[in-house]
Amino acid sequence: MKRTLPLLLLLLSGSLAGAQSSRAALTLRNISQEAPQSRSIPMAGVTPFLAWSAVWSGEAEGLWFRFSADGRHWEPWIWTGPEIHAAELPGRTVGQLRFENAAMRYFQVRSEATVDEVVVHFFNPGPDAPATTVQEAESAELLACPCPQPAFQRRSDWCPAGNCPPNPNPSYTDVTHLIVHHSASANTAASWAAVVRSFWDFHVNTNGWADIGYNWLIDPNGVVYEGRGDNVLGAHFCGTNSRTMGVCVIGDFTSVVPTQAALDQLRNLLSWKACNINADPLSTLLHTGSGLTLNRISGHRDGVCSTSCPGNMLYPLLPNIRQNVANHIAQVCSVSDAEEAEPHAAHLHIFPNPARDIIRIEAEGMTGLAWLELVQAGSGAVLQRLLQPEAAAFDVSVADLPAGLYWLRLSSAGGEERRGVFVVLQK
Ligand SMILES: [Zn+2]
Repeated sequence: MKRTLPLLLLLLSGSLAGAQSSRAALTLRNISQEAPQSRSIPMAGVTPFLAWSAVWSGEAEGLWFRFSADGRHWEPWIWTGPEIHAAELPGRTVGQLRFENAAMRYFQVRSEATVDEVVVHFFNPGPDAPATTVQEAESAELLACPCPQPAFQRRSDWCPAGNCPPNPNPSYTDVTHLIVHHSASANTAASWAAVVRSFWDFHVNTNGWADIGYNWLIDPNGVVYEGRGDNVLGAHFCGTNSRTMGVCVIGDFTSVVPTQAALDQLRNLLSWKACNINADPLSTLLHTGSGLTLNRISGHRDGVCSTSCPGNMLYPLLPNIRQNVANHIAQVCSVSDAEEAEPHAAHLHIFPNPARDIIRIEAEGMTGLAWLELVQAGSGAVLQRLLQPEAAAFDVSVADLPAGLYWLRLSSAGGEERRGVFVVLQK
């Protein structure tokens, strides 16, 4: 974006808060046309990088900042514009979250348009936990749906100092739609956990929210981070957050695509949730909060506000992502023990899938079949049982069953049990 360099300068006259704390804010007033004056960053010992953001009042679309380690040699001016996830308030703009080299000790700011007041927030993410841990998700929902929840970093893992607390009074929601975001922030980082801590600080201390906005986040290495967590009402979908789960793929996907590791883990996460809420990932449904009929897996820009999120390179991938989730549910999520998934899936064939009236089941290599159950994903309700099929391949009528996701449980007379392939019924 080419812009004429500004004529107006904000004379920095803020007050310093908490020189040794993990966060600080400077309030700046008094627009001046004098030459830029440097101001020190009100914190020391920053690691692994400096996170900062600005909130301003007035007509400026954005502000120019630049940084220096010694107060004499300056980095190039950086334009910072409005943050796409912040609430729009008349006369007040929340700027983007930015990251700077931890060695920076001074900054300057200037504006092309009238700015009444600027509050610049600084955040020191601090050190990570000594050993990065990734929690295995609990398997309590296994009987409702064998699609495993991906392992993830809990809040206590990504925020070991404990200074990124959750909302003490969260609201809960029954999720019907899964909303994909990007963070529109840097695609490289010294520590992704530190980036998540910075998001928390930005959402709480700059945006004024009760907690980090998203339910889950995924970094470029495919690590999942617990945000608000499962079924907690988030702050991410144009103010119509009820019945949504917000997933943020960390990075800016305006001109590059996410890593394969991030996309694979996004597929796993969406498969787990879609399966557990009995949502066909290829279907659409009325989203009651927005009044829009939306894909079960939608992008932020599909909502009622104007935003480019999740970016021009990620958004067009959503049809593929929906199909990959459908395939993953049908072919991979099959048994409680992941090691057993493939041989079991290989020996159990169902077609057509998706189905409407009749499915044909081949239980290859499994003799003495005693019973079969068709289990509704999400509820875990057993909706059909067939006793003693006479052949290894047989037809099952599903004409009377409602649309949705089902999985098969097969048991032989010898006690062998197989939790098998998913069936998607479309009506
Ligand atoms: Zn978004």
